[in-house]
Amino acid sequence: MQVPFVDLKKHYLPVQDKINEAVLGVVERGDFILGQSVAQFEHSFAEFCGAKHAVGLDSGLSALKLALRAMGVEPGDEVILPADTFIATAAAVSFIGGKPVLVDVDEKTYNMDPALIEAAITERTKVIIPVHLYGYPADMDPIMEIANKHDLKVLEDASQAHGAYYRHRRVGSIGHVAAFSLYPAKNLGAYGDAGILVTNDEDIANQVRAMRNCGQHQKYIHELAPYNHRMDTMQAAVLNIKLPLVDDGSASRREAAALYTQGFEGTEVITPVDESHCRHVYHLYVVRVNSRPELQKFLKEKGIGTGIHYPVPVHLQPFYADAGFSKGQFPVTEKLADEILSLPMFPGMTEEQVSYVVEQVKAFYGVPVSA
Ligand SMILES: *Cc1c(COP(=O)(O)O)cnc(C)c1O
Repeated sequence: MQVPFVDLKKHYLPVQDKINEAVLGVVERGDFILGQSVAQFEHSFAEFCGAKHAVGLDSGLSALKLALRAMGVEPGDEVILPADTFIATAAAVSFIGGKPVLVDVDEKTYNMDPALIEAAITERTKVIIPVHLYGYPADMDPIMEIANKHDLKVLEDASQAHGAYYRHRRVGSIGHVAAFSLYPAKNLGAYGDAGILVTNDEDIANQVRAMRNCGQHQKYIHELAPYNHRMDTMQAAVLNIKLPLVDDGSASRREAAALYTQGFEGTEVITPVDESHCRHVYHLYVVRVNSRPELQKFLKEKGIGTGIHYPVPVHLQPFYADAGFSKGQFPVTEKLADEILSLPMFPGMTEEQVSYVVEQVKAFYGVPVSA
């Protein structure tokens, strides 16, 4: 049997005709730049998140960057974020001249440890960025409490968690602003690059709307930073068809995750937490294992795709070599980087596929497979 790391075709094949039709509609209307599909997607996505405003952009990184600018982060200001995240979270801060201040993560949830935030706050701190890593919501209540106490703003990086819930609220509606990537492999993905920013703050939404489009509220009057980070109308047309499928996709991912977790019971494989106050959407199903390189090689030979998210933490990346970080500074993040392994996960994954992966992992460790 072959189990690819990700196979998104199956989930979308049933709507492919509708997508083709929607894309052709854009061609016929010729409204290629900030056309009707973009406005429609912004409206639907804001509603999906339970937020007032959404602004369509060209990537998740742009959403983080423009959010930080609109939140008033100036060169030299500090932004607190988890050490364990994709590079874009930190890069967005660096690109606008800010200083990414990292905190270690919780060993169980892999998300920012709220107990470490206050010690990282200084007079220059402006924003905290919790990341809902792998689709599991960061612990937002204590994070919001600390932010309010110190008069800081919170920007959720929800790029891996479309549709996840934290205490009955969708992620993206809890912080002051949220950024989502809509990269093809994300839980809601375009047919190319795209991203979106969500907020209840009208002023922030208006500023980002201007900044994405050459800094203009009014044509050829460039008041704000004249970026070009517009969402492509064709991508919005695709996303309009795919958005209604997100919750179904999450349910399917959750079923596969439950089968995995059950299958690994009694083995040395450490499975992800999934507490009842959250709804994990399993962008990735990440376990912690011993002998990772050997296991990964063994699974590859058995036709099973795996990944590592991420093998080198932000603070040890060559790009940050001169940023004053050091090895050993974030021990939990560094330990996780050595042990984590992402197993195949996608909507529509079959029970047979999950069982096959579990069996092969057990075979590797010499655990007897029960019938
Ligand atoms: C994918 C991702 C991003 C960046 O998104 P792009 O659309 O690729 O720019 C940012 N943060 C996290 C946590 C991500 O997973």
